[in-house]
Amino acid sequence: MKYELVVATKNKKKLEEIKEILKDLSLKIASLADYPKERLRIIENGKTFRENAIKKAIKIAQFTKKLALGEDSGLCVDVLRGKPGVYSSRFAGKDKSDLKNNLKLLKLLKGVPVNKRKAHYCCVVALADQNGLVGVAEGKCRGFIGFSLKGHFGFGYDPLFVIPKYQKTFAELGPAIKHRMSHRFCALQKTKLILATYLKSR
Ligand code: IMP
Repeated sequence: MKYELVVATKNKKKLEEIKEILKDLSLKIASLADYPKERLRIIENGKTFRENAIKKAIKIAQFTKKLALGEDSGLCVDVLRGKPGVYSSRFAGKDKSDLKNNLKLLKLLKGVPVNKRKAHYCCVVALADQNGLVGVAEGKCRGFIGFSLKGHFGFGYDPLFVIPKYQKTFAELGPAIKHRMSHRFCALQKTKLILATYLKSR
């Protein structure tokens, strides 16, 4: 029988990426959408990706009584001293959308030359079960912020996030390349090792 892992996210695109990257493991992957939402509200008020990822994993593990994966990620832009960081999804404020977030970022970087547009994506993955935290893994992916939105794959800031090696955005490169080098991929590769040890001890 497959072991069930509940992923603490409501972001469908993120869930797709996580499922794709973990597909070689013999796990049944569920998400918050598979559990009644009204009884569970997780407030992402941590100051770091790590704090938020751990909080999500522990809450979901307690709620579902299953092994849970909490993920928190975002974009950190050097010239903005790490912003939007943990506020990546709500960068444009209450009426946020990926497009509004991207346009706000472009506006803030107006006139900033290419050599000062360095940024990285960061992803922290936490695993927890009913007994508490099982492990934490982090992944980073470096690039720079382009001057206009390019490409249609992915989500979030992908149309602006340029990978220097290809001189193309993640949104242009598509999943085959993104899932081999992204912050989420790097964090999940480390998570796989933690999972393997955990499952062996069951
Ligand atoms: P979270 O759901 O609070 O972790 O929000 C993460 C936010 O960071 C997303 O809404 C995106 O704005 C941004 N983000 C994280 N990972 C990615 C990615 O792989 N591509 C594009 N944007 C990302």
